[in-house]
Amino acid sequence: MKRPQEARFVAAAATVEQVPHLPYPEVAFAGRSNVGKSSLLNALVGHRKLARVSKTPGRTQQIVFFVIDQRLTFVDLPGYGYAKVPEPMRRGWQQLVEGYLQNRRQLRLVVLLVDVRRGLEEEESALLDWLEHAGVPVVLAVTKVDKASQRELAHCRRSVQEHGRGLPVVWTSAVGGSGMAELWRLIRERCGA
Ligand code: GDP
Repeated sequence: MKRPQEARFVAAAATVEQVPHLPYPEVAFAGRSNVGKSSLLNALVGHRKLARVSKTPGRTQQIVFFVIDQRLTFVDLPGYGYAKVPEPMRRGWQQLVEGYLQNRRQLRLVVLLVDVRRGLEEEESALLDWLEHAGVPVVLAVTKVDKASQRELAHCRRSVQEHGRGLPVVWTSAVGGSGMAELWRLIRERCGA
């Protein structure tokens, strides 16, 4: 699968009002803090530093927009589920992310990242409920597969079977690059790109 030629940072939005107007089909990436979202975005796009890896978890409450080859937008949603985040910040996340997801006409796909060592948990299930209700198509991307023990893999597989609603699942590693071609295929299919 051919790598994109260009990935350009265009905006970061801390409020729904700051979300930029962009003409391209859009793919949003969501997942709990530390799930490996920055690493996956970088691996997918073939940049080592497009998205910052290992920020302080829970700190960045911004939606970040990247335009890919002038024909596709990738959206990095802020991570959720960090235990030490105080309640008002949690509400801020919800307002920002739901506000974005609800009103984004060009949104074609949400890639929901699932840490292989945790599997699909309550927070992912709640988000899947919400996305289903909003009518947004979703694929699951299990992350850090290179790191998992057989036991973790089995647990994750079971949780995906039980709570994954039959959605497409891609098993990925940002380290080895596995799953990237498959994820690109699903993205292109949904975006007609
Ligand atoms: P984010 O908070 O979701 O953006 O997660 P990061 O991309 O910053 O990754 C969190 C941690 O997991 C970092 O220490 C990464 O190096 C590590 N990590 C991310 N993806 C992988 C992967 O595919 N394999 C392995 N072994 N480690 C990963």
